[in-house]
Amino acid sequence: MIPVMRPLLGEDEAEAAAEAVRSGWVAQGPRVAAFEERFAARVRANHGVAVSSCTTALHLAVHLLDIGPGDEVVVPSLSFIATANAVRYCGATPVFADIDPATGNLTADTVREVLTERTRAVMAVHQAGVPADIAALRALCDPLGLPVIEDAACAAGSTYRGAPVGAEATLAAWSFHPRKLLTTGEGGMLTTDNPEWATRARRLREHGMSVSAADRHSGGGVVIEQYLETAFNYRMTDIQAAVGLVQLSRLDAIVARRRELAARYHEAFADVPGLGMVRDPEYGTTNYQSFWIRLPDDARITRTELLADLAARGVSARRGIMASHLEPAYAGHPHGDLSATEAFTERTLILPLFHDLTAEDQATVVDAVKAALGLPVPAGSPL
Ligand SMILES: *Cc1c(COP(=O)(O)O)cnc(C)c1O
Repeated sequence: MIPVMRPLLGEDEAEAAAEAVRSGWVAQGPRVAAFEERFAARVRANHGVAVSSCTTALHLAVHLLDIGPGDEVVVPSLSFIATANAVRYCGATPVFADIDPATGNLTADTVREVLTERTRAVMAVHQAGVPADIAALRALCDPLGLPVIEDAACAAGSTYRGAPVGAEATLAAWSFHPRKLLTTGEGGMLTTDNPEWATRARRLREHGMSVSAADRHSGGGVVIEQYLETAFNYRMTDIQAAVGLVQLSRLDAIVARRRELAARYHEAFADVPGLGMVRDPEYGTTNYQSFWIRLPDDARITRTELLADLAARGVSARRGIMASHLEPAYAGHPHGDLSATEAFTERTLILPLFHDLTAEDQATVVDAVKAALGLPVPAGSPL
């Protein structure tokens, strides 16, 4: 079976994790601090606050803005469910906006339609690594005093108008889950240019402590910490950060490889009439965190049948991006027109794309898709 993805982890990561263990310091410490500094520099943010996942980073972002019951935050339904859940964690209401079918992302027009007097923020997702048009969203939101939080879970290494995604972000949340380009097993980061938010996020991830545990242990003398507010334990460990530092050094190579593989898919599927594919928007570049395709309108099979057919041919694919409003957790949650979201989630699927995908396996994937769609496959294909 050709897997849909495989994380790129080598001896260097194993050695870095072992070195952290041998050092005797495994909780949040010097490696976390170094990882924060280097990651923030890479995405051109002034501050990075490492946390346990992107989900907890999103929660902190909403919490930091003092958003709570009675408040609304605009989110795409077309996203991993953690995007909407982060709003609910704060007792606020996620309000679903529709997407641009070409990118899978919110637009200023879809957001404008769902703004109300209770809107307190907009959470834009760079879905599957495709940058959202943040300048257009901020042109709408800044005059209204609405912060734009960026769910950049998938977007490390993507670019927007010539800069890394995350540059100048109000608040951006990142994921280091193995399904993303960089992994620390589990892990996340909140980046921001606002020093007060960074300070408060550091405190919120660590029980609201006035002095971090790392500083208390490494400083001399007696330090008695205070607990300044009710907070959380969302810390990353030094073992994870040690792995993250190695992963970060590979980011450019990982993105280059993914873009090469994506270009091959684009070329191979160019002759399939009506097939939609993820691509760079005109204002930026994607890291191809996921390679999604959208079935032609006149396809002879459904998306789910195509997934089953691919599995029978030895190709593990996945449904495309989920729509949160269709999940039981959001049953009965009010929403407006989400027809682009519904068409997108129903007709897309994600094909295998990972660093070590061989040319032969990629050709097998292409032939399997074409065969399943009833198109001719080249003579000599293993299918
Ligand atoms: C993966 C993902 C998340 C959650 O990331 P975790 O690190 O697993 O918590 C949130 N939002 C989006 C868009 C994602 O793809």
